[in-house]
Amino acid sequence: NLPFSLFVEAVEQAPVAISITDKKANILYINDAFTSVTGYKASEILGANESKLSDKSTPRQVYYDLWHTISRKQVWHGQLVNRKKMGQRYLADLTIAPMLDDRGAISHYIGMHRDVTQAH
Ligand code: FAD
Repeated sequence: NLPFSLFVEAVEQAPVAISITDKKANILYINDAFTSVTGYKASEILGANESKLSDKSTPRQVYYDLWHTISRKQVWHGQLVNRKKMGQRYLADLTIAPMLDDRGAISHYIGMHRDVTQAH
């Protein structure tokens, strides 16, 4: 049996930017890699919506598809144009998975992303 604190540390130290949100994408948790990628510390972004990361240049259809997918309890994977705290644009390769409660209803979302700007 792994100690619970080990699961917390695994997420905390995972080499991919991880955030946990409520059902409206308001940010409740970020790990260290999220700060490394985006420049935002927890105190600066907890409570804000994930749209704070948006460069506002991603076509609406992409967000429509994202919400259409995740609100149906499916995993969404795609690329969005994001903006770091200091203003640099970057291409985010993002996976969003719904988290279900014990009755099978969506309770939260977990987002995992990498900066793939260099790959393009
Ligand atoms: P919004 O008004 O937020 O939404 C645009 C469209 O999305 C709406 O017209 C609607 O069709 C749909 N939509 C929005 N909210 C809901 C909802 N609660 N239920 C159903 N449909 C909805 N966005 C980024 O740009 N970068 C990210 O890195 C990013 N990471 C995310 C991580 C997670 C875990 C989640 C859940 C969402 C993430 N988003 C991210 C999406 C973000 O929350 C916004 O929806 C998006 O940035 C568009 O914001 P907006 O203010 O332009 O438009």
